Amino acid sequence: MNDPALREVCPPVTQDELDYIKSLIPEMTKILNQEDGAALAANQVGVIKRFFLMKDGKLIINPEIIEIGPLKPFEEGCLSIPGTSGTTQRAQTIKVKYRDENFNEIEIEYKGIEAVAIQHEIDHLDGKLYTDQMQPMRRMLVLDKHRKFLKLRGRQR
Ligand SMILES: [Zn+2]
Repeated sequence: MNDPALREVCPPVTQDELDYIKSLIPEMTKILNQEDGAALAANQVGVIKRFFLMKDGKLIINPEIIEIGPLKPFEEGCLSIPGTSGTTQRAQTIKVKYRDENFNEIEIEYKGIEAVAIQHEIDHLDGKLYTDQMQPMRRMLVLDKHRKFLKLRGRQR
């Protein structure tokens, strides 16, 4: 979580970068499956480009939220902050515009956990982490749990 790549605002992908982006999918899929994540943003694997991969294999390029429902509390975690979770405010329905793996423009509505995952990933692409939106005290508790998790994992190695 202290990697500077996670604080970068990722610039849009251009059509001529598609082959490069697609070449990253096997490795990103492996990480997603290993860590059992809902989605994985490019800058989580050190690539400063505006795309993410969903668990179902869907590649979401240059996403933009064009409609957003009311915010509700949601308990979420992040592969870049393992071992902990926290409550955020997320919309349960969103409409997104993005480019697919063929660079076709898609507009689609998402609900529930997928809608939350997409908001989480777009935050990543804007250099934000879910803990940023928490009150300092809450954030401290969440990050404390994360640090304890890392310590324990270090000892088990
Ligand atoms: Zn995350």
